[in-house]
Amino acid sequence: MLQFQEALDIVLKHSYNLEKENVSLNNCLNRILAEDIISDMDMPPFDKSAVDGYACKAEDINMELEVIETVQAGQTPSKKIKKGQCTQIMTGAPVPDGADKIIMVEHVEINGNKIKAKKNQIKSNICKLAEDVKTGDVVLEKSILIKPQHIAVLASSGYNKVHVYKNPSVGVFSTGDELVEPDCKPSKSKIRNSNGPQLIAQVQNLGLEEKYYGIAKDTKKDTLNILKKALSENDIVLLTGGVSMGKFDFVPEVLKQAGVEILFSQIAIKPGKPTVFGTINNKFVFGLPGNPVSSFVLFEILVKALIYKLMGFEINPDKIKLPLGKDYIQKRTGRQSFIPVNIKNGQIFPVEYHGSAHINSLSLADGFISIPAGVDEIKKGELLDVRQI
Ligand code: AMP
Ligand code: MG
Repeated sequence: MLQFQEALDIVLKHSYNLEKENVSLNNCLNRILAEDIISDMDMPPFDKSAVDGYACKAEDINMELEVIETVQAGQTPSKKIKKGQCTQIMTGAPVPDGADKIIMVEHVEINGNKIKAKKNQIKSNICKLAEDVKTGDVVLEKSILIKPQHIAVLASSGYNKVHVYKNPSVGVFSTGDELVEPDCKPSKSKIRNSNGPQLIAQVQNLGLEEKYYGIAKDTKKDTLNILKKALSENDIVLLTGGVSMGKFDFVPEVLKQAGVEILFSQIAIKPGKPTVFGTINNKFVFGLPGNPVSSFVLFEILVKALIYKLMGFEINPDKIKLPLGKDYIQKRTGRQSFIPVNIKNGQIFPVEYHGSAHINSLSLADGFISIPAGVDEIKKGELLDVRQI
């Protein structure tokens, strides 16, 4: 059976980067930058006061100083500082010529139009012209995932429009005769569709929009109809259920009927073994297992990698090492396992999970750990890599 890394390699190998487009500064959050960002100015653009205080000559620090003007942020000083003089200055205002020190307002005694420093700080309290960025510097490199802190850099570099990769369009549907939508009270033998809304939320969490196609009955005809429609309207289709060995698990067969080339239909992982991945006309389909934990984990470890690759980004998930909070024992398995964990007081606790109906257990998960095939016991205190979610 295919190992997880092999499955991931197949997914990434068949993927490609979508085209680029220009979007406005206020619409580029969570997109992947498709150009280097170059500053069109020095930052700071002038010697700038870092504090509210009095600008003077450092050598005059022990003298009584005459205040010759007041400069606010956004104004330009009109007077040069001479010996024995100072200018009252606000944070962010340009430092007047002749001054090389700002005495903080908290450190002066004021006497009419005169001030005197009560304390001498070693630092100048001046941010020097271009000490952060020089005109022409690359301030953000191509291919980063744009986060709120990058928006400030784009804004101060004058990028009102930003070149990014296009977002893939994603279609989502669930399969299963037992499913009703969340607004219905399930009759006996039915359950609510939780995978659909969960997948939609996972897609939205990446800053993408999704199209939802509802619930397909466990018939080849219904599944094929919805699949074809979703494929015609999207770059990626995510469906859950109907991928395992049951009599009514038609998804792999229906994918073939729709002309999808199946690239794998099993992975040696737990949960999520019967995951199906295929491609057709540069579009992709994931058939995820109906078990809500499987569907959740598979989105995190496989689907996300595909979505980001299409968006021009090779995901390399951050992991933190934390100790296991109690001994963990699982049935020995020949498959790599992905276990949702809760993080409490700097320790990790595998989330107790009793099967596909135990949906609230996953809500406790802050991340998951991966355990190699063949390992059935891990001792309390052992350091494990946690991938946060
Ligand atoms: P399946 O992969 O279709 O055999 O489903 C495996 C298990 O997950 C069954 O117990 C299903 O009832 C459950 N399941 C399937 N689809 C969903 C869904 N959309 N929401 C919640 N549970 C589901
Ligand atoms: Mg099913």
